[in-house]
Amino acid sequence: MTLLAVPTGIRKAVLERDNHCCRICGRHVETPALHHIRFKSHGGPDTEENLITVGWTPGHDCHLAIAHGPRARTFAPLLVACTVDPSVTALQLYRWQRETELAVDDLSLP
Ligand SMILES: [Zn+2]
Repeated sequence: MTLLAVPTGIRKAVLERDNHCCRICGRHVETPALHHIRFKSHGGPDTEENLITVGWTPGHDCHLAIAHGPRARTFAPLLVACTVDPSVTALQLYRWQRETELAVDDLSLP
């Protein structure tokens, strides 16, 4: 066990909560990684509230492309929402958020 490893019990609880699916895109992950919503390097704890299951392999790398990608700050609160509501994914929330913003822009209020 390395210093960065999430304790086994917490890891198991997060994977079960997320049904072994990436909480960003919803796809099932054979070899899951756990993402710290508040980065471990920023003092983020190893708690169920701060961890989500993500894909991190070639062909399915939501971890690097999204959770640590150029929109990481936009996605962080969406990832928190995904720990609370297992029926939504971060990508769904992101799309709904963008559609809502576009709809507000379309109103052209004076
Ligand atoms: Zn994914």
